[in-house]
Amino acid sequence: MKEALEDKDQSVLSNRLLDEEAANPHRILVHMCCGPCSIYPLKSILGSMADVWGFFYNPNIHPRSEFLKRLAAVRTLAGYLSINVIIHEEYRPLPFIQHLKASTGALKHPPKESRCGYCYSLRLEETAKTAVSRGFDAFSSSLLYSKYQNHDDIKKLGIDLGKKYGMPFYYEDFRAGWHEGINESRGKGLYRQKYCGCIYSRIERYSKKKESGKLPSST
Ligand code: SF4
Repeated sequence: MKEALEDKDQSVLSNRLLDEEAANPHRILVHMCCGPCSIYPLKSILGSMADVWGFFYNPNIHPRSEFLKRLAAVRTLAGYLSINVIIHEEYRPLPFIQHLKASTGALKHPPKESRCGYCYSLRLEETAKTAVSRGFDAFSSSLLYSKYQNHDDIKKLGIDLGKKYGMPFYYEDFRAGWHEGINESRGKGLYRQKYCGCIYSRIERYSKKKESGKLPSST
């Protein structure tokens, strides 16, 4: 059994609590940022006997072809795990870019510190609202799996949104399954993306490659 959180706040659920109430499983809506990052979180929560549903809402992935590849991987994973997924096919990277331009003083390339918090809140808030409107008992996110994200910010945001919407946020440090998730996504042949998702992360990824000489200078 995984350790319970010390946080006694009712807007946070732990695995221990789910185990105790297994006779009346919670219905949990888990935001899925992509297939590979979702494997370990979903399997871990499924191990707690909860009724787990996935939720795909990532409207700022760039470009659309990448968005569709990630969506396809999420559908494939849902099939493997035999879970339901609510798919939000909204694809609107422009409002995300416009918001960042306005909030960062029209910076051409907002750094991670000034863009990721907004990106997390977009996706988690939609998950919390959908969990409420569809009668779930809790919500969570595969964003808690990534070693590349600001884990503490995501946890705090989830707890705050839980309070705002009266919908408990299920917290677990899914980074514990980092290697397991990678190995399984490779084994299943799931599409594995090369960058986080937004246009800025794509630019950063390819400029790093260019600097390291892995891409021709015209790229
Ligand atoms: S780097 Fe990732 S988390 Fe940050 S804004 Fe871009 S897509 Fe969102």
